[in-house]
Amino acid sequence: MEPFTNDRLQLPRNMIENSMFEEEPDVVDLAKEPCLHPLEPDEVEYEPRGSRLLVRGLGEHEMDEDEEDYESSAKLLGMSFMNRSAGLRNSSAGYRPSAEGACSVPSARTLVVCAFIIVVAVSVIMVIYLLPRCTFTKEGCHKQNQSIGLIQPLATNGKLFPWAQIRLPTAIMPQRYELSLHPNLTSMTFKGSVTILLQARQATWNIILHSTGHNISRVTFMSAVSSQEKQVEILEYPYHDQIAIVAPEALLAGHSYSVKIEYSANISSSYCGFYGLTYRDENNKRKYFAATQFEPLAARSAFPCFDEPAFKATFIIKIIRDEQHTALSNMPKKSSVSMEDGLVQDEFSESVKMSTYLVAFIVGEMRNLSEDVNGTLVSVYTVPEKIGQAHHALETTVKLLEFYENYFEIKYPLKKLDLVAIPDFEAGAMENWGLLTFREETLLYDNTTSSVADRKLVTKIIAHELAHQWFGNLVTMQWWNDLWLNEGFATFMEYFSLEKIFKELYSYEDFLDAQLKTMKKDSLNSSHPISSSVQSSEQIEEMFDSLSYFKGASLLLMLKTFLSEDVFQHAVILYLHNHSYASTQSDDLWDSFNEVTNKTLDVKRMMKTWTLQKGFPLVTVQRKGTELFIQQERFFSGRKPEIYPVDASYLWHIPITYVTDGRNYSEYRAVSLLDKKSDIINLTEQVQWVKVNTNMTGYYIVHYADDDWAALITLLKTNPYVLSDKDRANLINNIFELAGLGKVPLQRAFSLMDYLINENQTAPIAEALFQTGLIYDLLEKLGHMDLASRLVSRVHKLLQSQIQRQAWTDEGTPSARELRSALLEFACTHSLENCTTTAMKLFDDWVASNGTYSLPTDVMTTVFKVGAKTEKGWSFLLSMYISIGSEAEKNKILEALASSEDVRKLYWLMKSSLDGDIIRTQKLSQVIRAVGRHFAGHLLAWDFVKENWNKLVQKFHLGSYTMQSIVAGSTHLFSTKAHLSEVQAFFESQSEATFRLRCVQEALEVIQLNIQWMEKNLKALACCL
Ligand SMILES: [Zn+2]
Repeated sequence: MEPFTNDRLQLPRNMIENSMFEEEPDVVDLAKEPCLHPLEPDEVEYEPRGSRLLVRGLGEHEMDEDEEDYESSAKLLGMSFMNRSAGLRNSSAGYRPSAEGACSVPSARTLVVCAFIIVVAVSVIMVIYLLPRCTFTKEGCHKQNQSIGLIQPLATNGKLFPWAQIRLPTAIMPQRYELSLHPNLTSMTFKGSVTILLQARQATWNIILHSTGHNISRVTFMSAVSSQEKQVEILEYPYHDQIAIVAPEALLAGHSYSVKIEYSANISSSYCGFYGLTYRDENNKRKYFAATQFEPLAARSAFPCFDEPAFKATFIIKIIRDEQHTALSNMPKKSSVSMEDGLVQDEFSESVKMSTYLVAFIVGEMRNLSEDVNGTLVSVYTVPEKIGQAHHALETTVKLLEFYENYFEIKYPLKKLDLVAIPDFEAGAMENWGLLTFREETLLYDNTTSSVADRKLVTKIIAHELAHQWFGNLVTMQWWNDLWLNEGFATFMEYFSLEKIFKELYSYEDFLDAQLKTMKKDSLNSSHPISSSVQSSEQIEEMFDSLSYFKGASLLLMLKTFLSEDVFQHAVILYLHNHSYASTQSDDLWDSFNEVTNKTLDVKRMMKTWTLQKGFPLVTVQRKGTELFIQQERFFSGRKPEIYPVDASYLWHIPITYVTDGRNYSEYRAVSLLDKKSDIINLTEQVQWVKVNTNMTGYYIVHYADDDWAALITLLKTNPYVLSDKDRANLINNIFELAGLGKVPLQRAFSLMDYLINENQTAPIAEALFQTGLIYDLLEKLGHMDLASRLVSRVHKLLQSQIQRQAWTDEGTPSARELRSALLEFACTHSLENCTTTAMKLFDDWVASNGTYSLPTDVMTTVFKVGAKTEKGWSFLLSMYISIGSEAEKNKILEALASSEDVRKLYWLMKSSLDGDIIRTQKLSQVIRAVGRHFAGHLLAWDFVKENWNKLVQKFHLGSYTMQSIVAGSTHLFSTKAHLSEVQAFFESQSEATFRLRCVQEALEVIQLNIQWMEKNLKALACCL
């Protein structure tokens, strides 16, 4: 899946220390485990198993009759240990020392025994009290008085539910699903039936699977031997979205069975599951459309299934639709049969073996463009009137499909590959096997209104979803704790493939930008290892964050650079070949690398230091003669030792790369591995300067000794192009991050930035604008207008000649065009260099032509923003927003509408996005972020989020990346204690699960850091600006 990119990259600001955030007490911090055991979910005690063992250890043979009854009935029901422990606990009086007055004659032996028993009893109580609270309910800990129900789950009919864990048992494995659906898009309901062919791995009486929101009318069971259908009972346990089918006979290991479930349900009005939407066509006629989004946990709401990624099976899907609609699914259509009332039933071929979250189907009016690629029919589908915007996507897909088939040395296994633009879609895109779904803006390209940034976005997202056809679909992570295996790889391949076949797009600039912002997030205490234990739906949703995507991808880039491109590719091919149609854990990937490196390097040992520890290292270097002294410690966004303790157990295996005046870029791959706290690198000769972490291929920040910083600053000022643009951007980033911490004087960071007067490339200028923009935003919100304008003047002086050089056209390389966008946006935002006059003139021409005048696409947003400042301009933009068909143009208009300084307009925009009629709800998080960024709207955005919190959660789900984006976007520029208390109080007043969300903890940490940054640096700013 691809979270919507515009949101994804705007990660919150954290510049300073934190004085209040402790480690979350129950989050397992693997970094603190010196031996770095990968903690798999199976190893985590989510049931009070400990209590049972302790009790049984004391007196298993003493079990009384009630317990024995319980024990045998539990066995019969196939219950887990947990249920039995509850039974035992209820009758645990038998184990208490008071029973026979055993302590009344206190011999030494008795005292020891009593003491032992008391310790055990206290342990039992603590284990029972502590362990199960937060893991057994979907909603987390806020449900009170449910302890009995939680320990001993009861089905909705009051009977005992025979399974108490969130994860499904593995006694029964699905082999094949036959799913028939009949949706009614106007009544928003559907009827379904699913027949699941099963195989028992172990003897059991129960079939436990997922189902949520279904009215189940009939369930039948059939064993392969008897082939006689029997109606059977079903138990429902909604807390875990589970149902249990109680079989009429014991299921025997190795035997096959089938169950058929008939049900009905509502088509969802949120963005997940099987969901419905309406849109208006070019004649303003209302049209109905239905699509699916199952990742991560919503397949279970469309049909009863074993909804975990490792339960792979094949799928045969049948859909009944209206004649004028098209139905699509993962596989090619096998047959269409006309039925009564103008209905048609489409049947799709049996799928390859795959996970439930990759199943997809779509029903609606669509047209397509197609092309054959080595026997695979590639098609791009859109609503009929937008098919003219599908050419770019088709061309791009054809090139990328060929690239991936060659690179992975595995042919794409299906006969067709559809890419569909959905009129309302929460994510950026989704990689369903053979049926990729996208927002319209991430798939469609309009020649007259799409900018170079839009072109990059569409190309990148197609590359990402196509990479998933191998990473994720063919080889899938076993469980969501290793989501990074899917998303980190797809993100890495997205940029890698663009570098190879669309080199002219300079996509590395975007990667660098995303990597730097991800590190900002990863330096917070609220961060997490990319392989993290997860169980609840919120925890799983929370894994879809920039760490899984960009930290994952950055680590792979670091590994590729370290091992060489060939070795990396060999290992990747081996991994895909070894695990096709199966599921893996991180270790399987590292094993493939180790097979290729053939013991010359233990890749598993090295990479575990990166995937199982949160954060990243700060590498400090000091040059002494021809020696380079290097040492590592964890990089924290704050320095207060009571909050960010120096923890010696953090240690990474870091590939150290560097360039010097005597060692050019072609040699930089000859790296050394820093796998201890400190080391010395012999530079072999005296050098003038050294730049470590060449091209920022390493996931770490570098701090230099004073003289070494001075040498680099001198180099930048005298001969900047000796260093690559990536290295120049990297230096700007590192020095500002270090200055925020007080490790480098702020003055020195500004002094380094002064070289920008000679800079003409995009990456370093973009990074400088980002760093100074954050400082500006905070100063402005705190009312330090004098300092804010001095900051703008300083940056303006550096970029003045570059700004003056820009023409208002779409000419130049993609990189030059993006630079133009950034510079003119900066100039117009701060009314510099006649920028607004030129923009206003272009806007007036555009209005006079009734929106038909062709504006340069790269500066369109800037022109619209200037136009939106007037009442008339804003209204015209809104009327255009409603009437035009290009999503690319609509996005630019929406950005401009949200930049208004009129709070009534801003409030209306947010409210309309939530309503979803004029502005689609898929745009809401983007609108809230845009409103929250500007002075006029930053308080309003937060008020809006508070007021509508319940509606937002209902629509987007707690923990989802959209909610993460909304929370961050509405709070990340607060920098006062009053706001900190206010945000904290609001989330505390919600459920405990809400308050514990990582994005909430992150928001509080960021505000705290903003406050401290200002306290510490305001004076320094006054001096150096
Ligand atoms: Zn993805």
